[in-house]
Amino acid sequence: MRIAFIAHDKKKDDMIDFVKRYKDIFAEHQLFATGTTGKLLAEIVGMNVHRFLSGPLGGDQQIGAKVAQGELDFVIFLRDPLTSQPHEPDISALLRICDVHCVPLATNLGTAEVFLKAFKSHQELG
Ligand code: PGA
Repeated sequence: MRIAFIAHDKKKDDMIDFVKRYKDIFAEHQLFATGTTGKLLAEIVGMNVHRFLSGPLGGDQQIGAKVAQGELDFVIFLRDPLTSQPHEPDISALLRICDVHCVPLATNLGTAEVFLKAFKSHQELG
């Protein structure tokens, strides 16, 4: 699968912990991320991840373009719902384009967790 990661600043620690926990699973897939999120996943977790621009500089839109082109299968986007973001229009556009193309989108840890658990048990069943 082709998986994209985006985490707002206050959610970056959560994203790092989450990816660490499922590192073995994620390592078998093609990974993409916005700039800073990707840098942290590479440096702290040791993931091989293709990095786009930072979110506020257009990274969300780059990920949205890949969704529109059918080149992403799952997006984990840990949003900070309590802080306003300068690139709010880009964020809304990304959520919308995932819905347009029925690409699974986890916007919080609860959803991401459910998806990974399902994925893991599916793998174990072979
Ligand atoms: P970042 O972008 O990974 O470059 O911090 C995330 C965002 O704020 O959209």
